[in-house]
Amino acid sequence: MDFEYSPKVKEMRERLLAFFDQHIYPNEKRFHQELQANREAGNVWVPVKLIEELKPLAREAGLWNLFLPRSKRAPEGLSNLEYAPLCEIMGRVPWSPEVFNCSAPDTGNMETLERYASEALKDQWLEPLLRGEIRSAFLMTEPGVASSDATNIACRIERDGDHYVINGTKWWSSGAGDPRCKIYIVMGKTNPDAGRHEQQSMILVPADTPGITVKRHLTVFGYDDAPHGHMEIELKDVRVPAENMLLGEGRGFEIAQGRLGPGRIHHCMRSIGVAERALELMCKRSLSRVAFGKPVARQGVTQERIAEARCEIEMARLLTLKAAYMMDTVGNKVAKAEIAMIKVVAPNVALKVIDWAMQVHGAAGVSSDFPLANWWAHQRTLRFADGPDEVHRNAIAKLELAKHMQVSADEISMPVTRGS
Ligand SMILES: Cc1cc2nc3c(=O)[nH]c(=O)nc-3n(C[C@H](O)[C@H](O)[C@H](O)COP(=O)(O)OP(=O)(O)OC[C@H]3O[C@@H](n4cnc5c(N)ncnc54)[C@H](O)[C@@H]3O)c2cc1C
Repeated sequence: MDFEYSPKVKEMRERLLAFFDQHIYPNEKRFHQELQANREAGNVWVPVKLIEELKPLAREAGLWNLFLPRSKRAPEGLSNLEYAPLCEIMGRVPWSPEVFNCSAPDTGNMETLERYASEALKDQWLEPLLRGEIRSAFLMTEPGVASSDATNIACRIERDGDHYVINGTKWWSSGAGDPRCKIYIVMGKTNPDAGRHEQQSMILVPADTPGITVKRHLTVFGYDDAPHGHMEIELKDVRVPAENMLLGEGRGFEIAQGRLGPGRIHHCMRSIGVAERALELMCKRSLSRVAFGKPVARQGVTQERIAEARCEIEMARLLTLKAAYMMDTVGNKVAKAEIAMIKVVAPNVALKVIDWAMQVHGAAGVSSDFPLANWWAHQRTLRFADGPDEVHRNAIAKLELAKHMQVSADEISMPVTRGS
């Protein structure tokens, strides 16, 4: 086993770290000031100027679309294993991935288009996304049904001549609050009478198609996450050309399986970055504050938590790297146990470390003078987004039990369903 980063990754890491020192960390305050100024001026749903200023610098520095797997359009693309340490760095500042055109849900959506869209659709939508000119949203979850079971998705996609007509209501459509969000990938039912996993399809829907109403933004623990946003969207008799169907009718599950692997591991890589940063803040604060005659860092409980945080971050990173390695070498399908494991482990580790860091900060830790509360809120959502913990744990348990099914088949009855 070789734990060294390749020379190419080492060099890119150095370049990315230098970019962070020069352009990202010094602008953290400015980002929040600009958002606040937009809010006070009455419209926070506009692109952040700072990010637009930094994008050309990232491109010049060769730090653009780093998430993109090797393909015809990206001959220099990175493997998941190569991308992991770079994505982790971006996780240290939650708004930074967009500077490098590496933010969710665009990365997952771009990968979906790259894998499953026709060349004409790629030219129309993937190219401007790769250039960072437009943004995208993924519309699966619905208020009316338990969406962690994607077979429940009820939105209808019906063929009408050379068009499809779409009717349904979606919510938690992340990124759809941004005025640059021009394209939606919509999941819905084309054939309710087909087999359980052949009913759903995915189709491209331009955001300005008549019949689409963005009804409201949802908040996360009170944060609106503007200008990105998590929106509730109504689709009423929305007509799109039949060519917008991805891969073919009834193949939505197949696409979801392909899309969610990379999307999930990217979240995990960023979770590790934010956990590292929280641990740094925890150490610095505990060294700087004296209580009951000694620095908080000298209290046994603080040291215990610092040590535990270091152990858990290292474990989460190694599991993420293993999952990334398997995705690269044996494919997302075979790596499904590792992807599910890391999707449970990484956000929970990050939440624990951020919580301990908040505790060390005292009341200041939950205020907006420090980033910890915001980080915690975001990490908490990852225990739902891209599948709740329980669903991933069920999948892990099923795979584990399956290893022993021949021995104890009578004792264990397994539902014949696919994991999410
Ligand atoms: C910040 C944020 C951003 C999001 N972005 C997007 C997005 O861009 N696009 C999109 O389509 N969706 C998005 N989502 C939605 C997310 O994917 C769903 O919330 C998730 O899939 C769960 O679906 P649900 O909310 O309908 O929960 P439900 O399906 O109603 O489940 C509720 C709870 O039931 C329990 N449960 C479910 N299944 C099982 C099981 N098998 N075993 C045990 N317990 C179980 C779990 O505790 C679960 O949390 C986002 C969510 C958040 C919070």
